[in-house]
Amino acid sequence: MSELQDMLCVQARLHRKQGANALGDLFENALNEIELLKKTYNQLFDAVQGEREQLAKANERVKELESYNVKLANESHEYQQLCAELEKQRETDYEVWQSKYQALKDSLSLTTCYECGTRVHELSPRSRCCMCEYGRAQFNERENEQLRREQEGE
Ligand SMILES: [Zn+2]
Repeated sequence: MSELQDMLCVQARLHRKQGANALGDLFENALNEIELLKKTYNQLFDAVQGEREQLAKANERVKELESYNVKLANESHEYQQLCAELEKQRETDYEVWQSKYQALKDSLSLTTCYECGTRVHELSPRSRCCMCEYGRAQFNERENEQLRREQEGE
């Protein structure tokens, strides 16, 4: 209790002793009001303290979010680099696939020469490759030449 409260207490008792109850009540009321104000003050003090703690927590959270933001920016950069690399890889893969596909298509369109077994793009109407066809033509020519000589010799 403060000095003021002590004094009010003494005054209240004194006045009541002397039969001045109204004055006693007045001092009593003043005492009660001081108690009430003290309580209110304590509540306000606690409330302000609470707000300060909240503010400190909020500031901490802001710091955390800021560093998280920096981390995200870095990760985003790394992610973009990774995407670029993957895109490059995809293009390379596609080129490899395309050349393989082309080779396969070529091999499928090849046909086999019935005489030498070589696989070529085109066969003659007699199903020979151009080399076999050429060889055959030379053979025929030599044969014709020989026949002519034989006929001439007869
Ligand atoms: Zn052939």
